[in-house]
Amino acid sequence: MQDNLINHTKNSFRAFFQSEPERIFLAPGRINIIGEHVDYSDGFVLPAAIDKYICFAVKKTEDAEISFFAKDFNDSFSFDVHEKQIPVSKIWANYLLGVFNAIQELGKEVGGLQIAFSSTIPMGSGLSSSAALECGFAYLLNEIFDLHLNKKEIAVIGQKSEHTFAGVKCGIMDQFSSVFGKEHQVIMLDCNSLEHQYFEANIDGYSLVLFDSCVKHTHLTSGYNDRRRDVDNGKKILGEKFPEVNKFRDFSFEMLDEARSEMGEVPYKRCFYLLKEIKRVEKAAKALSEGNIEYLGELLNETHTGLSTEFEVSCDELDFMVEQTLKEEGVLGARIMGGGFGGCSINLIKDEKVNRVIENITDLYKQAYNIDMKVYKVKISDGINEYQRNEIVI
Ligand code: ADP
Ligand code: MG
Repeated sequence: MQDNLINHTKNSFRAFFQSEPERIFLAPGRINIIGEHVDYSDGFVLPAAIDKYICFAVKKTEDAEISFFAKDFNDSFSFDVHEKQIPVSKIWANYLLGVFNAIQELGKEVGGLQIAFSSTIPMGSGLSSSAALECGFAYLLNEIFDLHLNKKEIAVIGQKSEHTFAGVKCGIMDQFSSVFGKEHQVIMLDCNSLEHQYFEANIDGYSLVLFDSCVKHTHLTSGYNDRRRDVDNGKKILGEKFPEVNKFRDFSFEMLDEARSEMGEVPYKRCFYLLKEIKRVEKAAKALSEGNIEYLGELLNETHTGLSTEFEVSCDELDFMVEQTLKEEGVLGARIMGGGFGGCSINLIKDEKVNRVIENITDLYKQAYNIDMKVYKVKISDGINEYQRNEIVI
């Protein structure tokens, strides 16, 4: 699977640039087991990198141009590394230009490159293809031009690119997961301090399966920024009322209740969900490391209800999908994953029941919405890496 992607990307490079790529990099997408929307609210999240990647085939050149061939769009873009870059109308290029801009602002210099890339991470489905794109590019620049950036800096550069050039005020979770992922482990990440801890993902006998509703969103046009505004309004009132509390996660439910009338119902509901969710993440990390899979499933289900009714980022298709999935035998947990308004559900399913559940939900979803949903079985994998296998050619 990974080899197919690498060969496909190399061939795309050869066809477009009429030469041989020198180095190959793989940047994974991510799942988030639990901890949704808390990444910009001082919360813990519990993501992991997965075995779906953007593959970059790269060659250094002697000139000052960085040229991209985006195979999945059959589109290209190039820019001069000596010039200051600003956002352009080609959306995918902005994720890359933003990375270059952030690196330039750090006073780091890079030279010319030819880059072809293609991906097995579905776009706009909540598996963070955008973070893989940004961080993959930042990582390869760092490796090729010896920029002395550490992994945290690479993640932050990716996030900055998304903020400034793509116009999405995302948290750091997606970028961090793509960079720091480890096989068979989830990352419990404090998105505020970037302190993190790995937990074994003890889910033997169970699979993580994603159902893609194929209802596409882009964060730019969805309500993501609106939710952030609601939360910020709520936080502002809480902060004024209880100045002694420094972190959002340290507000108690009593404090939230006291601030309720002042902040209004919408910010209240949003903050209530977030405080509950932050607590669920701690419980889930413990459950995973102890192999308490049933409890993990319950927590996932609670998160879905919260995202649907309190944070209101679900949609009919995802609510239907989750409700039907939970009726199936061998399913311990199901919830919408990612920013919301479509995308995937993440499901915790007993291994031997996986195929039956997939069959049934595919049918039911097709009947209800006339959409062929997509299915991704994912494994928890390593973060961004250079692919070494082709290094020595004798
Ligand atoms: P996601 O949940 O996948 O991160 P986003 O809307 O944040 O969804 O990012 C998707 C955008 O990232 C795409 O619209 C495109 O601009 C860019 N992108 C992701 N993968 C690729 C790819 N393989 N080729 C070109 N652009 C890509
Ligand atoms: Mg994204």
